[in-house]
Amino acid sequence: MDKELLAMLVCPLCKGKLKYNREAAELECRYDGLAYPIRDGIPVMLPEEARAMGVDETLHDSPGRTGEA
Ligand SMILES: [Zn+2]
Repeated sequence: MDKELLAMLVCPLCKGKLKYNREAAELECRYDGLAYPIRDGIPVMLPEEARAMGVDETLHDSPGRTGEA
């Protein structure tokens, strides 16, 4: 995926920056907890097409997280 294109993409809901998840081929908005799919190399920037991420996914960068609750 084109890095310059990626840099131009923002979340349609909060206008925030998106994180590209290469493995899942998704663009993630941590703020909204949504993951926008990339289909055939084309980001689908539609909230109704986005996958709701679990709390665990949205927090998986946080330091000091200790195991499962
Ligand atoms: Zn957002």
